[in-house]
Amino acid sequence: MGNDQSTTERRILSGMRSSNPRLHIGNYEGALRNWVELQNQGFKMFCMVADWHALTTMYEQAGEVGRNAIEVAKDYVAAGIDPAKSTIFIQSQVKEHAELHLLFSMMTPLGWLERNPTYKEKQQDIGVAEREPYGLLGYPVLQTADILLYRPWGVPVGRDQAPHLEIGNDIGGRFNRLYGQDVFPAFKYMIPEDESRAKLPGLDMRKMSKSYDNCIYLSDSEDETAKKIKSAYTTPSKQRKTDPGIPEGCAVCQYLKIYHPNWQPLWEEDRAGERGCMQNKTECIEAVNEYFRPMRERRAALDDGAILEVLAKGREEATAVAVETMRLVRDAMGLSYGL
Ligand code: ADP
Repeated sequence: MGNDQSTTERRILSGMRSSNPRLHIGNYEGALRNWVELQNQGFKMFCMVADWHALTTMYEQAGEVGRNAIEVAKDYVAAGIDPAKSTIFIQSQVKEHAELHLLFSMMTPLGWLERNPTYKEKQQDIGVAEREPYGLLGYPVLQTADILLYRPWGVPVGRDQAPHLEIGNDIGGRFNRLYGQDVFPAFKYMIPEDESRAKLPGLDMRKMSKSYDNCIYLSDSEDETAKKIKSAYTTPSKQRKTDPGIPEGCAVCQYLKIYHPNWQPLWEEDRAGERGCMQNKTECIEAVNEYFRPMRERRAALDDGAILEVLAKGREEATAVAVETMRLVRDAMGLSYGL
């Protein structure tokens, strides 16, 4: 069996949780931007909206998670995912994710999950042990099912997801060894090489994240973007234009590096105390707004009806691959019962 995908048929799987109605430019830089590039290189993209995953921390707001899912799908299309080339689907609409998750949960050692750094972080956020849902510990098992169901060649994500991907290949390898068949060839981790994109800083220079309230959203207006960048963190010791800046530690310079076509001289002038923070901010606002303008326009033109059609088509395409994988899984395990 092995990895039988030819170059143009190589499948790529990635997804975002629908814990928020809007994606931020960190989600874009860490993941979505690569998805679009991979799609345009001819890879077969499966872009999932992970609504079940959002429930691990938002089970009390299930309705919100569902409404958000539609908005996240709009962000995918706005960012350049073309529904004619790529598959956009909602996790809970392909039930095979639940079946594979259950089977993997039977063979995943608890220690692998308890050691997971993101589990420890989220556990601390929730605080009270009695409120901690069973699903939180199993998050990487569900994520593994999401990935391996599509037997992908690669998975493009931001740096923070690396520990989960390792558990994913460990579970796939364990399945192959247990049942003596290479159902799940190891997939590649596709993390942006540029560290500022793999972990984009927020307006306060911590990691950009909804929970820190330090985000620029893909769907922010140009005025909102300008206001946010004006308030962004720069070099603290640079009080005057003539004070030297440290671009590596300045959020505005980080965005300039990504969005300004000619950022190097600006960085050198900043370092030499030849340009002020306001000047940087003005150029940064222009560059960011110019970069995201076409996406914002595309997003504004999308209505719910159009996106529901995209999702219905995506559900069919995703289900076709998922059903085939589950057939291989049941066969390998001896649970096919002649079907
Ligand atoms: P959140 O962490 O907000 O719940 P997700 O876990 O759904 O978001 O992450 C969606 C994708 O966005 C993942 O691939 C993740 O690695 C990436 N990502 C999130 N924040 C950043 C960031 N600040 N920089 C780069 N990538 C990020």
